[in-house]
Amino acid sequence: MATDSWVNETLYSAWGQRFRVVRELARVQSDFQDIMVFQSETHGRVMLLDGVVQITEADEFVYQEMLTHVPLLAHGAAKRVLIIGAGDGGVLRRVLQHNTVERAVMVEIDGEVIRLAKEYLPGIAGDAWNDPRAEVIVGDGIDYVRQAEAGSFDVVIVDSTDPIGVGEVLFTDEFYANCARLLSEHGLVVNQCGVPFMQADELHETSLRRAKAFADVFAYVAAVPTYVGGFMTLGWAAKDPALRAATVGEVRERAQAAGILGATRYWTPEIHCGAFNLPPYIAEHLPRG
Ligand code: SAM
Repeated sequence: MATDSWVNETLYSAWGQRFRVVRELARVQSDFQDIMVFQSETHGRVMLLDGVVQITEADEFVYQEMLTHVPLLAHGAAKRVLIIGAGDGGVLRRVLQHNTVERAVMVEIDGEVIRLAKEYLPGIAGDAWNDPRAEVIVGDGIDYVRQAEAGSFDVVIVDSTDPIGVGEVLFTDEFYANCARLLSEHGLVVNQCGVPFMQADELHETSLRRAKAFADVFAYVAAVPTYVGGFMTLGWAAKDPALRAATVGEVRERAQAAGILGATRYWTPEIHCGAFNLPPYIAEHLPRG
């Protein structure tokens, strides 16, 4: 994959992006995947799993803010948050920015991702690892949701790899049924659903599965520069359809109370509400309501 001073992403067989490498920082074969961290010339430090870009220091804020602030502020009173995957710690940091959150449990299958993120990407999680509200578990997300007590979380955030390999279980009927069970009355789950211009099946198939367990299934969009191919979709599955209808004013008020307003670089109340307006080429992959 590393050729001369370039790294080519191997996500798609016939199209992709590449980075000029200043320095390779780590290359580890864990029990689950090939992990690489390097210093790029243009995007700060970059982490790849099995040749696929997971995070870059330059644009991580887009993905992390949208995956975190949208569900928490749509819910409005989330105190207990479950994070699956997200070993870099970026979602954990954003969740704990909400002063309304009392408990954040993060379940990541690969301890090596956490170790390398702490060593080479310390700014992504900041002090979140040491926050007394955080509990970090190295384990399989599917096992955790099977065993979690009913009604024990308000929001589930799934920041997983794509539905191949170890991440596949996080896109199954069983996973979503357990999420519905462990969530409280107005609970919701969001997850990364890929870039629909290139990975339409991911959105289409997982939306159908979510619809078996949740009353309101939808998606919202974010433009993440290094998840190439246009908008990426974040999957939405809520028990209460009203959560998606929060107004700009309501969201702003909640963000103010939670300590989020003015602390973001992508998320704003307007972008929060606008992100649910989908181009038809994306909306056509959602179940018709
Ligand atoms: N934001 C990036 C993205 O979407 O490309 C980061 C993804 S994050 C690093 C994905 C994490 O999900 C990986 O660290 C991977 O080990 C973890 N993961 C995959 N399958 C899992 C499972 N079954 N249980 C818990 N974590 C899992």
